[in-house]
Amino acid sequence: MALKTAHPKAVVAGGAGFLGSHLCQRLIADGFEVLCVDDLSTGRESNIRHLLEHAGFSFLRSDVAMERLTVQGDVELVFHLASPASPTAYLARPVETLLAGSLGTRNLLELARSKHARFLLASTSEVYGDPQVSPQSEDYWGHVNPVGPRSAYDEAKRFAESLTVAYRSASGVDTGIARIFNTYGPRMQADDGRVVSTFIRQALSEMPLTVHGDGHQTRSLCYVDDTVEGLMRFARSEHSGPVNLGSPRELTVRRIAALVRVVTQSSSPIQFVAAMVDDPKVRCPDISLAKTLLRWVPAVSLETGLENTAKWMAGELNDALPARA
Ligand code: NAD
Ligand code: UDP
Repeated sequence: MALKTAHPKAVVAGGAGFLGSHLCQRLIADGFEVLCVDDLSTGRESNIRHLLEHAGFSFLRSDVAMERLTVQGDVELVFHLASPASPTAYLARPVETLLAGSLGTRNLLELARSKHARFLLASTSEVYGDPQVSPQSEDYWGHVNPVGPRSAYDEAKRFAESLTVAYRSASGVDTGIARIFNTYGPRMQADDGRVVSTFIRQALSEMPLTVHGDGHQTRSLCYVDDTVEGLMRFARSEHSGPVNLGSPRELTVRRIAALVRVVTQSSSPIQFVAAMVDDPKVRCPDISLAKTLLRWVPAVSLETGLENTAKWMAGELNDALPARA
């Protein structure tokens, strides 16, 4: 997509979250004006504090499912990242999750329509559910339990994808759907329950690493800088997607635990705990499309990414300790 102005404006819904804050930072670095909209339900102001002093950056606290946005002037990109994202967060807030995917998507698509902006949906590998094929390519329809505990998230994103496609065909909105696979990095919250943040927090505190089930389930972990690079390439393209963005390096959860122990030089034991209901047994993206369309492949090795994340989280955990007299 050719940008229309010298200092284009981007709206980032969910911009105070983990992924959104890195995206805002990248947009500012690339010369965008950025309006970050977030209700701070799972995000934090500290994620964007360093951006607030930047003249091109502004923050609006708002629930995108409940309020329609009014934005002054031209807008070229609208990113929709506003949704609970970790299983812990969406299992605790299933209704809000469905509303973020439905009403939130509608409100942001309306903003894009009124501004003739490109709309980018942060969808997810969870639309493939507990997949029966692996790796997952974009033409796989998925295997989702529509009434299981994970359904609020999976179905919210599936509906959001469908609504995005409908606005493209019915209203001519320029849209793109990115299916993001597990992304990790600095600014993940230590208590968000996700595998990388939980294992690193446990390893740094010499607590047991809690592996769900037998740990043979797989995930493919992508470092946040790589995911943001993929999102930016996709935003600047004219492709509608869906496009998978993720790392094709597939690991069992046991192996992830072992790697975290090595990176953090921890002697934490592994503790096997109850499996999650409907936990996908495999997950690995086929990224052929992103390679061809966007010339994108992840560049940061898992070892380097985990080291960066562990270093950052050690600082966070240290700051959270009560000051010693
Ligand atoms: P996150 O929880 O850190 O970020 C989500 C942000 O959205 C938070 O700041 C939260 O406060 C905000 N938010 C939630 N509901 C909102 C609402 N109704 N109105 C306004 N703001 C709202 O999670 P994340 O990992 O940064 O995920 C960001 C997006 O990327 C999500 O949409 C998620 O589904 C998608 N995604 C993330 C991953 C991943 O591995 N991190 C993988 C696939 C998809
Ligand atoms: N997991 C685990 N221990 C934890 C947290 C997660 O074994 O303390 C497992 C989880 O059951 C899943 C995988 O790690 O199989 C990835 O979980 P996460 O919540 O990070 O993301 P998901 O891909 O399930 O959305």
